[in-house]
Amino acid sequence: MLLLAVAAVAVGWFLPRLVLETEIRADALAWTECPWRSPARVTLTRRVSPEDSLPVLAHEREHAAQCDTLGPLRYRLRNLTAGGRMSLEAPAYCAGARQRIRMGLSRARARERLLDDATSAFHGRLDAADVVAALTVACPDIVGGTFAFHGRPRQLRRSPLVISA
Ligand SMILES: [Zn+2]
Repeated sequence: MLLLAVAAVAVGWFLPRLVLETEIRADALAWTECPWRSPARVTLTRRVSPEDSLPVLAHEREHAAQCDTLGPLRYRLRNLTAGGRMSLEAPAYCAGARQRIRMGLSRARARERLLDDATSAFHGRLDAADVVAALTVACPDIVGGTFAFHGRPRQLRRSPLVISA
């Protein structure tokens, strides 16, 4: 019976998500495809503002590197769960924040932006404290130090940057 349930979930949910591109991209600004038979492909839409284009590109290039390292099967498997996905997204958000710092943004502002974007992306799927913890491990140079998370959802001062995959 348990085996049947597992098989039903695999056929009904996991397999389509594994085989097809899994993201809903209607409102995404950018994404990275990890195809079965060709190298990773990064897409930035025209809706990415000029000031965001390099940080978003840095984010997506991190995913492209993950795709090359893991291969399409492991990359897609990781994306199936919120925790697995966070393990891919944390370094990507960190890469975007590092690019903002290279472009002259202060570390404090880059950290604020990073936390806003990442906690928004995982809102409803992961606890904000877990997102912050993953980011702290992925880029202690930006998130670490004096930052204290109090466990309450923060008010967003601007609309979050929606990045798919
Ligand atoms: Zn991403």
